[in-house]
Amino acid sequence: MTSVSTLPNAEALFEDLGRRLYVDAQIDIPPDVRRALREAAARETNRGARGMLTTMLRAVDVADRKQTLVCQDTGIPIFWITIGRGIAVDGAAMLEALRRGVERATEETPLRSSIVSAIRRENRHTSTGDGVPVFHVEFSTAIDYIDIVMMPKGSGSESMSFLKMLLPADGLAGVKKFVLDTAVEAGGRPCPPTIVGVGIGGSSDLCMTLAKKATLRPVGQRHPQSDIAALEVELRDAINSTGIGPMGLGGDTTVLDVHIETAWTHITLNPVAVNMQCWRGERRRARVYADGRVDIGY
Ligand code: SF4
Repeated sequence: MTSVSTLPNAEALFEDLGRRLYVDAQIDIPPDVRRALREAAARETNRGARGMLTTMLRAVDVADRKQTLVCQDTGIPIFWITIGRGIAVDGAAMLEALRRGVERATEETPLRSSIVSAIRRENRHTSTGDGVPVFHVEFSTAIDYIDIVMMPKGSGSESMSFLKMLLPADGLAGVKKFVLDTAVEAGGRPCPPTIVGVGIGGSSDLCMTLAKKATLRPVGQRHPQSDIAALEVELRDAINSTGIGPMGLGGDTTVLDVHIETAWTHITLNPVAVNMQCWRGERRRARVYADGRVDIGY
C-alpha cells in the first residue's frame, strides 16, 4: 500500500503556481513549438508565408527579451490537473488557490482580463468568473506527483471548435472528411499555423475534451498507437496541402501538427471533435511533489 504524505503549505504553493503559470505561459513559448516554427520557416516555399513565420519567431524572441506577452489575447485560463499517488491534498482548496493565483496575475502583472459573464457581458477584471478558470481534474496511479498544466486558450482558435456526432456507417472516411472540412472552413481565423486537436469517440462532451487535450501534446510527439499516429501524419499533410498557410495568407504551413486522442464509444455513435490551438501553442507545466518540491516545465 502506498504511503500518503500531506503537502506542506499547499494553499500558498498553489496560489503562487496559479499566478506564475498563467503569466509564464503567455511569455515563454514551449521549445517544441519554437522548433516547429523554425523548421516550417526553413521548409516554406511561399515567400510571404516564410516572412510571416519569421515575424512570429521574432515576436517570440521579443517576448523573451522584454518579458512581454507574445500576443495581447490573454485567453480563457484552463488548468489540466492530474493527481498522482501518495499525496494528500484538499482538492477544493487547491482549485480555489489556483483561481486566486490567476486573479493575482491579472492584477499584479497587469494583464487584460478577457473573461465576461455569458449574458450581461460583465467583466470583473480578474480573468475569472463563474466556471472560469476551467479545471479538468484526473487521477493517475502512474505518477507520484501532482501534474498541473496551464493553457491560456486564445479566442481566435477556441472559436474554431467543431463537433459532429457521425454515424458508425460514416466510418473513418467520415472522420477524415470532417477534420479536413473544418480546417478549410476555419481558414485563417484560428491564427495558423495551428496545432489541430482531434477527439474521436466517447460522448459528445468527452469527445470535445479529448480534442482540446490533444492540443497539449508537444508538437512532433506522435500517438503511441501506430494506426492513430499514421492518421495524425495523414491529416497533417492533407491540411497543409490546402495552401491556407500562416494567418491564412497562403503557403505550405497551415498546421504545425495534428494530434488525436480517442475513447471508446457507444455502438451507434461515431463522434468526432476538432479543437485548434493557435501558432503560439501556449502551455506551462508544474510538477508538485509530496515534499513540496516543484519542477516547472512545458
Ligand atoms: S488566437 Fe490569435 S489572437 Fe488569440 S491568442 Fe492566439 S495568436 Fe493571439
